Amino acid sequence: SSSGNGFPNFRRKPVIIIVVGMAGSGKTTLMHRLVAHTHIKNIRGYVMNLDPAVMTLPYGSNIDIRDTVKYKEVMKQFNLGPNGGILTSMNLFATKFDEVISVIERRADQLDYVLVDTPGQIEIFTWSASGAIITEAFASTFPTVVAYVVDTPRSEDPTTFMSNMLYACSILYKTRLPLILTFNKVDVAAHQFALEWMEDFEAFQAAASSDQSYTSTLTQSLSLVLDEFYNNLKSVGVSAVSGAGMEDFFKAVEASADEYMDTY
Ligand code: GDP
Ligand code: MG
Repeated sequence: SSSGNGFPNFRRKPVIIIVVGMAGSGKTTLMHRLVAHTHIKNIRGYVMNLDPAVMTLPYGSNIDIRDTVKYKEVMKQFNLGPNGGILTSMNLFATKFDEVISVIERRADQLDYVLVDTPGQIEIFTWSASGAIITEAFASTFPTVVAYVVDTPRSEDPTTFMSNMLYACSILYKTRLPLILTFNKVDVAAHQFALEWMEDFEAFQAAASSDQSYTSTLTQSLSLVLDEFYNNLKSVGVSAVSGAGMEDFFKAVEASADEYMDTY
């Protein structure tokens, strides 16, 4: 390939897809849908769960953090609350992550994608040392992309939309990986409004100006800043429930993986 990453043997496959997003945005349900799609389309996928606190997974996983660290026992042993328990479980798992990478490397020839589910609370993955270690371990070995899952119906309010986009922006800058804005739950609300707001900041400002509060004024200023951010993104609308948008999603992943190979 035309890889600019400096590793002569850097592989184009598998592509790692790290699924992140606010709690309740639908990461786990989307994982289930993506896994089902790979089965139907004969795409060779490998599935990883990094949420130590999830009770039951709707999809079958090849690697599950819960097999290695018992979140409830970690809480008891270190006298931690739920968030501390999840964080410490991730730290324990991160120390063994080279083994996880080796497992994937051994299977690389038989895999197209590795789908990675992350803890419900987004900052536990995106703002922790272990999340950074895991992301870096992936990205230094395989083309890696981030799917940022957005709860579309909840983002119809301009201020909420802005907050969500700022968070996505911070993840882009922190990971420096290609990011796919994945507007989920389009069975409930189409993501057309988001595309319009992203394309035309004046349309967004018009929507935001219905509220004269301080936040709204700030929102309008920030929309100018985010204009540049939007130019560097791919966005797709999906529904984890209906299955809409799966082809578009994987097309965006392929384009992002190409971008990765050219950039890193
Ligand atoms: P996570 O915390 O990001 O892993 O979110 P979950 O996958 O647990 O989903 C949170 C809630 O959103 C659940 O009640 C799901 O059934 C619901 N949900 C997820 N995806 C969709 C979708 O595409 N459409 C609809 N209508 N609901 C969804
Ligand atoms: Mg989840």
